[in-house]
Amino acid sequence: MTLRPILIHPDPRLKKVTAAVTQVDDDLRVLAADMLETMYDAPGIGLAAPQIGVMLRVMVMDCVKDDINPARPMVLINPEITWESDTHSVYEEGCLSIPEQYADVERPAEVEVRWMDLDGAEQTERFDGLWATCVQHEIDHLDGKLFIDYLKPLKRQMITRKMQKLKRERARA
Ligand SMILES: [Zn+2]
Repeated sequence: MTLRPILIHPDPRLKKVTAAVTQVDDDLRVLAADMLETMYDAPGIGLAAPQIGVMLRVMVMDCVKDDINPARPMVLINPEITWESDTHSVYEEGCLSIPEQYADVERPAEVEVRWMDLDGAEQTERFDGLWATCVQHEIDHLDGKLFIDYLKPLKRQMITRKMQKLKRERARA
């Protein structure tokens, strides 16, 4: 398994709609393993393929954050939201591509998601709480959308400028 560098906003690859996976093969299994390792290492609770520059509809997540419950690494290929609740909830979101910036985002509190697993089998599950927020955030990535796109333009521009500064500093380092 290999740690992959995570792209930092702004980057054109984070704004693109990604392509559906047509075949689950060894390359895809390697990609998924790398993504999980990169996510845990960051550390984060979710990661989408375009965040490491791979323009495919693949995401990983594990929202178990405590030491009591066993980890639940999930790999979702071609995930699709098939139902969302009328009730909404607000979470303070962050993103591995937008380090150290957090903001409240309102989303449906519960969603049902259909996806393909690493065996090529179809899965469906209903998510709530942090899992619901995370899966929606990651699916947004597959459509070139970031959590800051939900914020008011002024706040979004402020965060983008901070990220441009961070990238300049990292390039110099
Ligand atoms: Zn993100």
